[in-house]
Amino acid sequence: MKPSLLGCTREQIADFLRRHGDVPAFRVTQILDWVWKKRVTDFEQMSNLPPALRDELAGNFCLRPLEVQEMHHSQSGSHTRKFLSRLTDGELVESVIIPAAVGRGGAHSDRITLCVSSQVGCAFGCRFCASGMLGFRRNLSTAEIIGQILAAQDLTPGRIDNLVFMGMGEPLANTDQLLPALRLITDPSLLGIGARHITVSTSGHVPGLRLLASCGVPVRLAVSLHGASDEVRSQIMPVNRKWPLAQLLPALEQWNRTTKHMITLEYILISGVNDSLDQAELLASLAHRLNAKVNLIPYNTVQGLPWTRPSEAHCRDFCHRLLIHKIPVTMRYEKGHDINAACGQLRLRRSTEQHDE
Ligand code: SAH
Ligand code: SF4
Repeated sequence: MKPSLLGCTREQIADFLRRHGDVPAFRVTQILDWVWKKRVTDFEQMSNLPPALRDELAGNFCLRPLEVQEMHHSQSGSHTRKFLSRLTDGELVESVIIPAAVGRGGAHSDRITLCVSSQVGCAFGCRFCASGMLGFRRNLSTAEIIGQILAAQDLTPGRIDNLVFMGMGEPLANTDQLLPALRLITDPSLLGIGARHITVSTSGHVPGLRLLASCGVPVRLAVSLHGASDEVRSQIMPVNRKWPLAQLLPALEQWNRTTKHMITLEYILISGVNDSLDQAELLASLAHRLNAKVNLIPYNTVQGLPWTRPSEAHCRDFCHRLLIHKIPVTMRYEKGHDINAACGQLRLRRSTEQHDE
């Protein structure tokens, strides 16, 4: 399989050109322009390159490592759209386009957030998560991570200026491909999305946290906590047995020493599992210790899983406990609930449908 130009740095392309004869250096900029700015999908469209060079590139690289296969629109009026892409080996990944409802001060906003996947499936097996149910298929390459962004940009007139790594997979279990992708995405001469507009979400992969902290791209961090004690967390997140709170919390404190942004603690509320007010108290003290904000997410039901979301009144009580302790907290009702916008759900539905056929 030919590698995609999308995963190549300026230096790698320059290197390739040098090895393939006497190609002037300005060609690198021209090529990068075609790939990143004009977003062409065929080497023939690179009209200012000599035909021989176009052929040489086409013989060694591909452009888009994925093809959008289907779109789902949310009916809830949020304009959230989810798309499923087919990779060259036939695997499927999903990405979600989430327009901001309103801008600051209530004005119309054309800010768009894209939720990207980092792996096909996930090895971490959180009990409540559709991606976990699929098991792990493989890591996405740098180009496949970036390919989702360019595909989404082609599907929408607004500019994608926020990224969240909250699709399928555990991004910090794929730092080999994630970190080069972050460098390319934030390069001002390529996509130029600011690091502070990128959020990486992790279930608590401790060695990955250290690598991310020292990679030189100061992204924001979200941690899927979902349990405020080892007892509750281990029940639903097997990753907690490998890296329990006694290891995760110091790694997060270390993270805090390297960045000025507050960590976000993601906390899904699952009825009767992690939603006791005792957990709320413990969560408040963890958030306090980490100087973190908390994002409460009433659980989205997943077909085939027994978990449910608590009543709205109970979610409010839980939220109130955090507010009493002056913890910054938001409660996010998942946009696009009706199109299964939570992690892994669309792909799961597709693969069960294919199973039934
Ligand atoms: N593996 C990473 C990133 C992908 S998951 C992580 O776990 O952080 C993105 C978020 O969606 C996580 O917080 C995850 O716990 C949450 N999630 C998974 N299934 C969900 C569901 N059914 N309802 C609501 N949130 C869910
Ligand atoms: Fe993997 Fe995150 Fe889902 Fe857990 S919540 S199974 S880590 S994608």
